[in-house]
Amino acid sequence: MSVPSYKRILLKLSGEVLMGEQQFGIDTDYVARVAQEVKDARDSGLEICLVIGGGNIFRGMAGAAKGMDRAQADYMGMLATVMNALAMQSALEQLGVPTRVQSAIEMDKVCEPVIRRRAERHLEKGRIVIFAAGVGAPYFTTDSGAALRAAEMKCDALLKGTSVDGVYDADPKKDATAKRYETVDYDTVLADNLKVMDASAVALCRDNNIPIVVFSIRERGNLARVLAGEGTQTIVK
Ligand code: UDP
Repeated sequence: MSVPSYKRILLKLSGEVLMGEQQFGIDTDYVARVAQEVKDARDSGLEICLVIGGGNIFRGMAGAAKGMDRAQADYMGMLATVMNALAMQSALEQLGVPTRVQSAIEMDKVCEPVIRRRAERHLEKGRIVIFAAGVGAPYFTTDSGAALRAAEMKCDALLKGTSVDGVYDADPKKDATAKRYETVDYDTVLADNLKVMDASAVALCRDNNIPIVVFSIRERGNLARVLAGEGTQTIVK
């Protein structure tokens, strides 16, 4: 596999990554470990935008399944992503990495609003920018938020750090014959409904030629390996 020449990436972390081995919430030791890997990537000269999900705290669909109004539940999910963003900001700043959180739902006592030009300036200055609250609207997910920010910040790739090490043609937990793709095209992902990101996120990446790199962030050192073109991953392009 050739070494990718990324200058700027968007790293999307599922909320569940922040749980570590817990069943819920934020494991600060685990967040610190992931923050160290993000710092190492940034110290290598990469510009990094981060988007973190909220599934470790609240998902709108789960709330709706219990009878809540879906939009209301989704706003709760978006607030969960802000909490995760603040946890990651704290972990990064403890490592000496200047970090700014920009939220799609304005809350000026807590973080900045999303302002693209300001985010640009932060990146130029070597800061990490964490985009919180997804796209700021219900019925979306942070995958769509990640694709949107990757497009507007002109990122070279969207790296999806999750609990599985790539994209499979079947669920590897249920089917022992499931095969992992090295690369797969956007249209196959959409047509076969492969579990990568939600369809709107995949379509946005396709329309803007942003490769999606799916890898497991749970394996220590994997972010560096993926950035070096090594390690187990699937590239959607
Ligand atoms: N959410 C939303 N709009 C967005 C982003 C997120 O409504 O633009 C809500 C939605 O309820 C979602 C929750 O926030 O379930 C948490 O985000 P997500 O499920 O994407 O987190 P992840 O699965 O990555 O942990």
